[in-house]
Amino acid sequence: YESLTVAELGRKLGREPSGIIKKLFMLGIMATINQELDEDTIELICAEYGVEVEEEIRIDYTDLEVYFEEVDVEKNEANEIERPPVVTIMGHVDHGKTTLLDSIRNTKVTQGEAGGITQHIGAYQIENKGKKITFLDTPGHAAFTTMRARGAKVTDITILVVAADDGVMPQTIEAINHAKAADVPIIVAVNKMDKPTANPDRVMQELTDHGLVAEAWGGDAIFVPISALKGEGIEELIDMILLVAEVAELKANPKIRARGTVIEAQLDRGRGSAATLLIQDGTLHVGDPIVVGNTYGRVRAMISDIGRRVKEAGPSTPVEITGLSDVPQAGDRFVVFEDEKTARQIGETRASEAIQESRGEKTRITLDNLFEQM
Ligand code: GDP
Ligand code: MG
Repeated sequence: YESLTVAELGRKLGREPSGIIKKLFMLGIMATINQELDEDTIELICAEYGVEVEEEIRIDYTDLEVYFEEVDVEKNEANEIERPPVVTIMGHVDHGKTTLLDSIRNTKVTQGEAGGITQHIGAYQIENKGKKITFLDTPGHAAFTTMRARGAKVTDITILVVAADDGVMPQTIEAINHAKAADVPIIVAVNKMDKPTANPDRVMQELTDHGLVAEAWGGDAIFVPISALKGEGIEELIDMILLVAEVAELKANPKIRARGTVIEAQLDRGRGSAATLLIQDGTLHVGDPIVVGNTYGRVRAMISDIGRRVKEAGPSTPVEITGLSDVPQAGDRFVVFEDEKTARQIGETRASEAIQESRGEKTRITLDNLFEQM
């Protein structure tokens, strides 16, 4: 570190900037919240709080989010290219989420992949007219809750499935609230249109009360009538996803070291820790030294959503990797480092910090107080 502002130092020390300003004042320094502090001053303040600066550097070093967002010397907008949208499917129980995921997968994935065993890795990719789309098939609500609790944003678009014979239900509203809070665009799939009791007008009417007004009614919400069971309206739905994605101008840089989020992970008998990662930026390669949440390792093998071994994977691609020292959690961030030594150091520090945290030696952000802030 060369310099930090009062606010940044406060964040790193877990102290209110006002307290730091007071301490600076006692040291004869008049400072504002955005004031840059030099090393000597930082050291003085840290000493006031009983923090050794050596340790302070380590805290900075192990903050994965810093690598995720800021420490990125390679980042170069000129190298950015369009990336596929990442889509989650949400909606009330029994409204047809699983059926829709299967329907999309069956109509699009198996084409040209005859004999390919479809692997369940928690996410899959389809290709339509040369454009890819990534679907997360972890239960949408759970994914949103855990990922948001960790501050990870993985979804670009949400498909809200509403059964036309049942209408808006509690989990429909919950899904709308999740998507709105995360600022994710919603496409409404009015499902079960094959049923004689289907009443799409009622769905549109009910959703109006929740801020989703159909284009036909003067709003800008997209409604697509479908039958997930019969595979009807799927093409139109995919077209709409690609349209919304185009408007969002989703970009990533395949030339940088990979970073992204854990979709799911478990301990596999033969292979050890197996984690499905969604690559959000950069390209991941077999052999890359990686820190994943509080664990680390070298990517030993990578398996695609159709069960193929792959050597590298680019932005918006889900892959299952092995080679980690421990099992990470859904929503954990991952970052690739240039060498294994750094990855191990950071991984081990994070692991021991996590243990301290679970012992209550550090303040912990719980789900509840996180949601309170949102
Ligand atoms: P989920 O709980 O949202 O994942 O809902 P499922 O996909 O498990 O579907 C619940 C039930 O609705 C199952 O019996 C499905 O076969 C049925 N279902 C789903 N989509 C349709 C549809 O488009 N038409 C009809 N008639 N039934 C459907
Ligand atoms: Mg289901």
